[in-house]
Amino acid sequence: MADTDIRSNSDARLRMEIAAATRLMVMENLLDYSGHVSARITGEDAYYIQPATDPRGDVTPERMIKVDFEGNVLSGAPLRPPFEIPIHGEIYKARPDVNAVVHNHMEIAIWFTMMEGVQLVPMRARAVRWASGIPTDSDPSHIKLKQQGEKLARSLGPHHAVLMRAHGLTLVAESIPALLVDAVHFDENARAQMEVMQAGRKPLPLTDEEMEQINRHEMRDFHCGKLWAYYLRKGEKAGVLPDDWDVVK
Ligand SMILES: [Zn+2]
Repeated sequence: MADTDIRSNSDARLRMEIAAATRLMVMENLLDYSGHVSARITGEDAYYIQPATDPRGDVTPERMIKVDFEGNVLSGAPLRPPFEIPIHGEIYKARPDVNAVVHNHMEIAIWFTMMEGVQLVPMRARAVRWASGIPTDSDPSHIKLKQQGEKLARSLGPHHAVLMRAHGLTLVAESIPALLVDAVHFDENARAQMEVMQAGRKPLPLTDEEMEQINRHEMRDFHCGKLWAYYLRKGEKAGVLPDDWDVVK
């Protein structure tokens, strides 16, 4: 596909956003040899996701696979999607408000599923995103079956993050740029709580009143656009993104 086609086509742009966000998450140590980012295709019961085995730091828009919510490959064969696609399909079915999903194996997120009596809570101001709660799904195995995906979607419920016992994390957002920003802030918040606990002190999570105060001044779209542009530029400078990928919001 010619570059001009990529830039003039919103479908191609979506695939480019997924590829860019995936590479940037690798750059920021939010994703490594496994894990995957997907985006809902507007107006269709389908989404784009990367091939199972492509290195996450090298994914490209051209190799994105189109998959329906039951896991059938609609385009992109013979490339095959990751085994854990029931995570994505079942969440898109259950949550019409969700347009982007990342599943990763963020170590600090996993640690919070391994400590008795400890709940990951919103500590830093940007963690107000998870004010409704950060549930944990009890299934520690890879999510390869539809029933497992359904259970994970139930565990996520109306929230924006779900920890997966001894395995990983799934985040959901309204767009790929917002998903990248959420992944950055999720990591920051988990580190903040861990640092406080390692200092031997009791965490002081944001109170309901503080979260209300933050939300009164929240400008999520502006903030996500600003950070998306920041990380795209950082990725270009670092050689992580080709400089002709036009995905600035
Ligand atoms: Zn996994």
